[in-house]
Amino acid sequence: MTPEEAKLREDICILAKSLFERGYGCGASGNISVMTDQGMIVSPTNSSMGRLDPARLSLVAPDGAHLSGDKPSKEAFLHLAMYEERPEMTSVVHLHSTHSVAVSCLAEVDPSDVLPPITAYYVMRVGTLPLVPYFDPGDRALAEAVRDKARHHHAMLLANHGPVVAGKSLTDAVNAAEELEETAKLFLMLRAEKTRFLTQDQVADLKVKFPS
Ligand code: ZN
Repeated sequence: MTPEEAKLREDICILAKSLFERGYGCGASGNISVMTDQGMIVSPTNSSMGRLDPARLSLVAPDGAHLSGDKPSKEAFLHLAMYEERPEMTSVVHLHSTHSVAVSCLAEVDPSDVLPPITAYYVMRVGTLPLVPYFDPGDRALAEAVRDKARHHHAMLLANHGPVVAGKSLTDAVNAAEELEETAKLFLMLRAEKTRFLTQDQVADLKVKFPS
């Protein structure tokens, strides 16, 4: 193993633990991956994000074959679908974080963009958030639905399930996933309040100044 891969494996465990300790994952939910020249390094099945072991992370080929380490997460195929459509992305974070899941269960949301532009950082790190229809977690049709949305979006919300967010680096993906969860929380806090969201002009201006 190269020193770079060893460092990447350590970073995955450190960031996953940080997410877990701050309540972004519970039990064995959520998974995190990084694409490398050797394949995709991903958290193993039934592992807690709070207790990942760098040496036991799974290595998976782009076609889904298990190469080494513990057996990969059952949701590894969601990550692979995202990488296939967006080769510029090198990391994917998938969470079952409470507020995002709550929003993913709401009956009356715009499935083409679930959350409003509440803050500039949400617009810059997430932008548009389409809703992926509900499928069983192990259903391969879910991968196809993710692939379909990934053509145009690096972040999406799986209905009654949780967010999938990709980034050009591990920290980018983690930061965007955190921004999404906090925005979902703000959205739920503000639902009963008269709220001023960013205007279309303000959003367009941000997209010009800070292209993703
Ligand atoms: Zn999941």
